[in-house]
Amino acid sequence: MAKRQFKTESKRILDMMVNSIYTHKEIFLRELISNASDAIDKLNYKVLTESDSKVGKDDFRIDVKIDRDAKTVTVSDNGIGMTADEMEKNLGYIAHSGTLEFKKEIDDKENESIGQFGVGFYSAFMVADDVKVVSKAYGSEEANIWESDGVDGYTIKECQKDGFGTDIILHIKDDQGSEEYSEFLETERLRELVEKYSDYIRWPIHMTVDESEWKETGEKDEKGEPKKDYVTTKVDKVVNSMVPIWKKSKKEADDDKCKEFYKDKFHDYEDPVSVIRVSAEGAVTYKALLFIPSKAPYDFYTRDFQPGLQLYSNGVLIMDKCADLLPYCFRFVRGVVDSPDFSLNISREVLQHDSQLKAVGTNLTKQVKKELEKLMKDDAEKYAGFYESFGRQLKYGVVDQYGKDADLLKDLIMFHSVKQDKQISLAQYVKDMPEDQKKIYYVTAETAAHAKDLPQVEPVLAKGYDVLAFTDDIDTFVTNVLREYDKKEFCNATTEDLGLETEEEKKEAEKKDEEYKELIAFAKESLGEEVADVKISHKLKNHAVLLTTQGNITFEVERYFKEMPGQ
Ligand code: ADP
Ligand code: MG
Repeated sequence: MAKRQFKTESKRILDMMVNSIYTHKEIFLRELISNASDAIDKLNYKVLTESDSKVGKDDFRIDVKIDRDAKTVTVSDNGIGMTADEMEKNLGYIAHSGTLEFKKEIDDKENESIGQFGVGFYSAFMVADDVKVVSKAYGSEEANIWESDGVDGYTIKECQKDGFGTDIILHIKDDQGSEEYSEFLETERLRELVEKYSDYIRWPIHMTVDESEWKETGEKDEKGEPKKDYVTTKVDKVVNSMVPIWKKSKKEADDDKCKEFYKDKFHDYEDPVSVIRVSAEGAVTYKALLFIPSKAPYDFYTRDFQPGLQLYSNGVLIMDKCADLLPYCFRFVRGVVDSPDFSLNISREVLQHDSQLKAVGTNLTKQVKKELEKLMKDDAEKYAGFYESFGRQLKYGVVDQYGKDADLLKDLIMFHSVKQDKQISLAQYVKDMPEDQKKIYYVTAETAAHAKDLPQVEPVLAKGYDVLAFTDDIDTFVTNVLREYDKKEFCNATTEDLGLETEEEKKEAEKKDEEYKELIAFAKESLGEEVADVKISHKLKNHAVLLTTQGNITFEVERYFKEMPGQ
């Protein structure tokens, strides 16, 4: 039979696809395994609806085999298989997806086929210079072989094959300079890929792996003990665990199990402070298992840190770090999100416009917020530990959220209370306010201890009001963005008029202003340009003089700008 051309401008599209859609060539295995799994799903569905089937659920399997001499990797399944026509239709077109059609046809919740766009199979050409697809459709006597080098089109011929199902045989490319392909002929490498991307495929993935153990040789040593040899044997093994932990109920996988999973998967030595389970049904059906780490990873506050959640489409990893689901302020959250509604070939560009994902993101953000608020309420100590690592992130978050969801973080941030000498939430501050207090007072200071000794703090504390010590540059930016909390304005205690005096005190003050007119004039003249104004202060009790600022610019902010390069 003459070679047939791909039905689209093959070369250009294949090139584009191979080089741009997938940035990592290693995902070819994930694609082929998920196709195999789809094919089994389809047959499984078919036999479920058949009365006298000879195929049992337990017979289904996927095999990954390596032939180092022939330089091939073969992915086999005993799924539904393809007829010659189907091969033509499904593998000849690039953007044609048989799975999508199948989905439309039955539209059954039972069937959870993962493929939705027809580009997955072609990822094989990222690592192979020749691909053979040997397939026998379930219920058919005839088998066919499809073959292509991925460039010049393909051929389909009749051939021999024992059972139904499909073998995909990849002839792995030779290494080319820095481009390494021979790694894909290593058992351990492929096993690693299965564990990384396809662990949760619900059909067993078999591989022949080396297993070593001490075995008795049958002989005895000098002491009369049985002699032992370390022997390596080839064994057939199911290398995937088949059930994702996030699909298990809390009973099947308790918090401790989830924490182990977290440490293992996200390489942390410490337990997370929280495990969040989300199970949603409706417009988008998905499950998520999220974790709030107890400590920031060493690179968290650097550019190297890569935030994001793992996305799965029905147990198949489709994106390792999807940073678009949660807002930047929650980038410390780790975890997985799995939905049969996610498409396998989702790209970062698509992601941002995907309304389903947006809905998922909105809900997950809400859940994280809820969980943190709960933690703060139920376990203050644990929250304090978390806050030590991520408090700054939350405060930056408030500023970052400016113009977006301003309320998202206001209940999660804490400031140092001068009165209580510890970090408190704004809700706590407001709760402790005496009835006549109208504003939330703060001062900026180097340290909390320093804040307490500031002359400006004295009169506020004297009224029985608490003062928040802003020791971090970001703090004033936070209050500038928030402006108020629970309808109480933030008030910088170092600004001019706190309005704390009673009518009597005010009259007294006016009298004093009059009395010391000459002294003030003298001070103004002596200090000249150094100061904007000199006034009699009515706030001081134990201090003689205080320096204060006008308007919203605090000393801290002033210094911040002064220290900026170029000033
Ligand atoms: P998708 O999986 O998104 O549909 P692919 O490019 O991965 O797209 O596969 C194209 C089509 O080829 C599939 O929809 C399916 O019809 C067919 N196919 C691929 N691999 C197999 C297989 N192992 N068994 C049966 N059909 C397959
Ligand atoms: Mg596919």
